[in-house]
Amino acid sequence: MSAAKSPRSQGKPRAQGHSGTEDRSGAPDRSRAQARSRAGAGAQPSVATRRQAQLVGEVLAETFPDAHCELDFEGPLQLLVATVLSAQCTDERVNQATPGLFAAFPRATDYAKADLIQIEELIRSLGLYRAKARALKGIGVALVERFGGEVPRTLAELTSLPGVGRKTANVVLGNAFGVPGITVDTHVGRLARRLGWTSQEDANKVEAEIAALFPPERWVSLCHQMIFQGRRVCHARRPDCANCRLVDLCPSAQSEPPKSATAARWSASPSG
Ligand code: SF4
Repeated sequence: MSAAKSPRSQGKPRAQGHSGTEDRSGAPDRSRAQARSRAGAGAQPSVATRRQAQLVGEVLAETFPDAHCELDFEGPLQLLVATVLSAQCTDERVNQATPGLFAAFPRATDYAKADLIQIEELIRSLGLYRAKARALKGIGVALVERFGGEVPRTLAELTSLPGVGRKTANVVLGNAFGVPGITVDTHVGRLARRLGWTSQEDANKVEAEIAALFPPERWVSLCHQMIFQGRRVCHARRPDCANCRLVDLCPSAQSEPPKSATAARWSASPSG
């Protein structure tokens, strides 16, 4: 998907039902409570923050209606493997490596039985490939020994796998099994801080604070939209506030490039 930048002149957000925070059923929902419990219970946000978050969610849904996981995969095992490989590596590079890997190792038992060197050869183009190969073999062994060769469907079981943290588990739960989860990667964390939703750096605390602002059915799509926003507009060093549709809602909006980005540009310049 190309960058979906929209000019500031497009105006303020309109309310849109599909991305709102209202519980349309109006009924108590045990699964919602369970999802919130899994995400951790953060302090209750203010009414103003809730309203701002709702509007931000609406703008993000309008701006990136097709936001999705940018890793290529078919089924839970491939997604689990691709997510493990994506650590400190771009999705594009992972997607270049995984077709060969998935063809050679279609099942968990194939990873379990493989020689490490076989896996390493297929992912050598990725950073940390030796550690990632060990993790994939360990995951294969654990899946075969404890889960009948299948990828489990709970956060606790997924995070019991070697090398699988909460972020990876939430990616798999949300995108392979449709279980609500908030994936706090570098983009989601940065955007949540810039939008004033949290001041935390710890991913688990950020997750809890986002969970308090949105209903569980919104979590997976919201994270994809935040990641798209972070990759395409709200860059780490130089956020493109001039072309950001959130500019009227964002407490970190800047009319000029931030000093740190300017300094980074100068320091990166060969003539600088
Ligand atoms: S206004 Fe600027 S800082 Fe705020 S979300 Fe947009 S790009 Fe990021």
